[in-house]
Amino acid sequence: MISGTRWRAARIPHRSDVEHSFDAARATRSQYVSTDEIQFRSDVTVELVKSSAGDADVVFAARVSTMGERSLADVDADASESGGLIRFLMRERHGSPFEHSVLTFYVQAPIFVWREHMRHRMTSYNEESGRYRVLDPVFYVPGPERKLVQIGKAGAYEFVDGTQEQYAVVTDAVRESVTTAYAQYTRMLEAGVAREVARAVLPVNIYSSAYVTMNARALMNFLSLRTKSEDSRFPSYPQREIEMVAERYEEAFASLMPITHAAFVANGRVAP
Ligand SMILES: Cc1cc2nc3c(=O)[nH]c(=O)nc-3n(C[C@H](O)[C@H](O)[C@H](O)COP(=O)(O)OP(=O)(O)OC[C@H]3O[C@@H](n4cnc5c(N)ncnc54)[C@H](O)[C@@H]3O)c2cc1C
Repeated sequence: MISGTRWRAARIPHRSDVEHSFDAARATRSQYVSTDEIQFRSDVTVELVKSSAGDADVVFAARVSTMGERSLADVDADASESGGLIRFLMRERHGSPFEHSVLTFYVQAPIFVWREHMRHRMTSYNEESGRYRVLDPVFYVPGPERKLVQIGKAGAYEFVDGTQEQYAVVTDAVRESVTTAYAQYTRMLEAGVAREVARAVLPVNIYSSAYVTMNARALMNFLSLRTKSEDSRFPSYPQREIEMVAERYEEAFASLMPITHAAFVANGRVAP
């Protein structure tokens, strides 16, 4: 499992007025999670949970084109001699042989990342339900390394470091708003309101989890759009938090399909 910094709410600067407002919520021991159990994270979790993916999968699928049934011999073949074929397929955008490799990930990320992620339709998803379970009080807060200030023009933004004061404003605002929101969520649940109604007050930085299954072609399309790289023929400027997910996907992809990954990079990160 890939995960990074986690810390408790207490490590984020306190606002005494906020604390005071929620004393009452804490005093009533709830059957639901109380606001003092709120967790803040600045990372994402990405685990490769299963895969059927390898460079040989590209080769045998492509070779049926010229060899017919004889390409079955390539199903488990060593693909190391087939770099030329894979590079040719990538360069000429013969994409379908890359669809026979499949990777499934378990991902925990904030809802605002999922909103962007789920625009990728050539992907299969199963996500935890806010109707059938009480959502855990785990929220995203930008870490100190997260660049906070946007400059440049739409479509090609650059981000630069914020000041300490800006970082303090961000952490304080996040803490205050999620504490309020989660207390109101709990309040509605305790009053017998349905989870699907109560969740309406929760902010988009709450974490959700899902299984994500992609074939290698869809994954390369995702990587081309959700990573920023100087090697790209068509540079993309993704939000940093979805890029954190994409970087973990790319590590798994490069490890399972090194020849295909190298061909993707050499081809300017253009998905076939
Ligand atoms: C930096 C960035 C900024 C963005 N900003 C916005 C924004 O402001 N507003 C917004 O709404 N979206 C925005 N998007 C989302 C973007 O428009 C795409 O919806 C998203 O990147 C998914 O890409 P996709 O369609 O290629 O992926 P997938 O849905 O996985 O599709 C993969 C490929 O399949 C084909 N395909 C899939 N469905 C169809 C279809 N219905 N018809 C024809 N071909 C299809 C296409 O070739 C497509 O490239 C942004 C994306 C990025 C990376």
